[in-house]
Amino acid sequence: MIAPDLATATTMLREMIDESERVVPFTGAGISTESGIPDFRSPGGLWTKTQPIPFDLFIASREMRDESWRRRFAMEEYFGKARPTRGHLALASLYRAGKAPGVITQNIDNLHQSAGVPPQDVVELHGNTTFATCLDCARRYELVDVKQKFEAANGHAPDCDCGGFIKTATVSFGQSMPEEAMRRAQSWAMDCDLFIAIGSSLVVWPAASLPLQAKKSGARLIIVNREPTEFDSIADLVIRNDIGDALSPLISH
Ligand code: NAD
Ligand code: ZN
Repeated sequence: MIAPDLATATTMLREMIDESERVVPFTGAGISTESGIPDFRSPGGLWTKTQPIPFDLFIASREMRDESWRRRFAMEEYFGKARPTRGHLALASLYRAGKAPGVITQNIDNLHQSAGVPPQDVVELHGNTTFATCLDCARRYELVDVKQKFEAANGHAPDCDCGGFIKTATVSFGQSMPEEAMRRAQSWAMDCDLFIAIGSSLVVWPAASLPLQAKKSGARLIIVNREPTEFDSIADLVIRNDIGDALSPLISH
């Protein structure tokens, strides 16, 4: 059912969590919009402005690597200032209460960790944009250092000492999914009694297969998203209210 109003939504959400042993939250860009980071698919979202650079183009073209880093530094205005939202704090509370084993996220903004979920319990399906790695030797680079080299080279992407390309630690379109994260996400989805998808348009695969997998394994499914998703019809509860408003009653200090 679709919650008819915010009061019903928060009451039902709380009841369903209380009735569950193991809750698995799964988040998308919508949980972070309150922090000022735009999502992809809301009207006016990033997607409507620039198409992302696919992995094969990043590898094939120096210009694309330069452009990719130019865009990343422009986004630092958002990522650098962002603080956890009410949604992030609510999920960190569920984690502390022992209700959730962690959070599965498609986000790359590090905000679940900033909200207090230990990094080892944040399953990042699309990586993390707050640092970079060499694609060949996996050495870690901090963004301030990459930026310094980028500027010193008049806007050219620096390479690693080993000769490999340096890229934000994210998973681009066309790049293979991190196996361990995907395996863990699937096992959590199959082993929970409540799965809550929050702020995701649920169109990016294979991430979007997780709610389906949870449902097939017998869990109840809640979808919290302003806009309709393809999975609303199989959800036990659909909440179309603002994520911060819907989740804030779960915050405990
Ligand atoms: P999406 O942009 O496709 O969908 C976000 C959904 O959240 C939209 O359907 C929108 O209606 C909803 N939403 C936005 N703000 C909301 C709010 N305050 N309350 C309720 N609903 C709200 O996001 P996605 O499904 O995560 O897919 C985008 C991909 O892009 C992800 O894979 C992610 O890696 C990446 N991305 C990440 C970030 C980030 O890390 N913050 C930001 C943009 C894109
Ligand atoms: Zn290297």
